[in-house]
Amino acid sequence: MQILRNGKMLFSMPGANALAVDRGYILAAGSDEEILNLATAETPQIDLNGLSVLPGLTDAHIHLELYGESLQIENCDTPTRAACIERIRQKAISTSGSAWIKGHGWNQNHWSEGYGTALELDQVSGNHPVFLTDVSLHSAWVNSQALQIAGISASTPDPEGGRIQRDVRNNPTGMLFENAVALVESKIPPTTPDQRKQNLYAAQQKLLEFGITSVHDFDRMPCFQTLQELHEEKDLLLRVVKNLPVDQLPAIIEAGLRPGFGSDHLRIGSIKCFADGALGPQTAAMLEPYELDSANRGTLLLTAAEILETGIQAAINGFSLAVHAIGDRATQEVLHGFDLLRKYETEHGLTHPRHRIEHLQLLHPANLGRAAALRITASMQPVHLYNDMETANRHWGSRCRYAFPLASLLSNGTKLIFGSDAPVESPNPFWGIHAAVARCSRGKDPSEAAWIPKERITVMEALQGYVHVPHWQAGQDHTLGRLEAGYKADLVVLDHDPLTFPIDQLHLIRPCGVMVDGKWVYHNW
Ligand SMILES: [Zn+2]
Repeated sequence: MQILRNGKMLFSMPGANALAVDRGYILAAGSDEEILNLATAETPQIDLNGLSVLPGLTDAHIHLELYGESLQIENCDTPTRAACIERIRQKAISTSGSAWIKGHGWNQNHWSEGYGTALELDQVSGNHPVFLTDVSLHSAWVNSQALQIAGISASTPDPEGGRIQRDVRNNPTGMLFENAVALVESKIPPTTPDQRKQNLYAAQQKLLEFGITSVHDFDRMPCFQTLQELHEEKDLLLRVVKNLPVDQLPAIIEAGLRPGFGSDHLRIGSIKCFADGALGPQTAAMLEPYELDSANRGTLLLTAAEILETGIQAAINGFSLAVHAIGDRATQEVLHGFDLLRKYETEHGLTHPRHRIEHLQLLHPANLGRAAALRITASMQPVHLYNDMETANRHWGSRCRYAFPLASLLSNGTKLIFGSDAPVESPNPFWGIHAAVARCSRGKDPSEAAWIPKERITVMEALQGYVHVPHWQAGQDHTLGRLEAGYKADLVVLDHDPLTFPIDQLHLIRPCGVMVDGKWVYHNW
């Protein structure tokens, strides 16, 4: 047994300052006096110095494998070209064998020196081929070894729709544009199972440091297999609810799998399908055309009838659907599909699975109450607000009044669960909490800069979406998401109390200790 005392326990008994933790579970929560009564002279005690403690947070929409991969990619968003080259030099030193070095995010407009050359990379890259994409993904800066592997020389013609930059003697300089990027990219070997395992392990470490102890993953089957290997090797510390792609549904049914199958650390979740694209590329399905492009209403990928058909197969086998829907047409169509599905479930005596809509970025006002009425969970990513506010204003115009309608959904009784969609955005949950509560960029004053201020929610409401409701969604809320006797000892000690910290600084909160199954998996004290 160990005792944590002199803290402030959130999501616990009123006034609890202390916890007794034993064999991975919380044995008791209460006042310092009550809990210290349980101790013997040998019981280890940790004085929390008044710090706040939360149950471990959940990221309810993440791509673990892609996030792990993104951590291996060097950040090339540097103030100068020289600084970028220095990063590649460091990376070459820490990279073994002749593995590729990948980087992303440079912008020659931010560099007084402009575009780089292969020669400059050659001088720092040793044995390693180098492939660095620019921030727009429309060009790449590569070294001579990469050019050689791709067979690009003075005599290589420009590909259709692409350009190889050349010097006066026609030799490639190392800059590739548009379709020429693929000449090198296609030569980069695919991730091996071993690398995938290392990537997932790195992702796990990062997430634990952010205070995330549980995730709902949306990557595909190779990720699931690698997670199983990590689990076998006792290296899986995160609790992963693994959602599976809809194209696998027949195989899943054939194998007789059911949701919840697995263990405390890896279990099967929902069936994932897509009803539309995204806001940025204007492929999210819209009831009315995008502003500035009166011909485009995006792309609807699933009809209500198709959701019903897939949903029946899923529901008969106990599965819920998790349907990606961003535009107001897609969210409407999905809600209509769920309406039909709920009726079918009722008529056929099926239990109602906890279906969910992923993203739900824009709702037509007529549909605001429907998710709650149909008991559909809204799985949203407040952190997307940071980058989407401007884009949404441009493409959705006055429709933005119903974009990211967090407060409206909550007031209708909708269950909200929050995630990041990492690597699309940072998985730091305190950025997400700040975004949900402040609805403005980090560093701005929310009382002046909030985007659609009526949709701001309280810190406690935001915490619910990260701490407790995701476990309800996964059917694990009787053992996870509270600091009370009988719950798993997954917890996060924070450097500041989110309930009293200034709202415009919520994104700065950091964990100073993270516990999973009663063991410290990260601390910086
Ligand atoms: Zn996603």
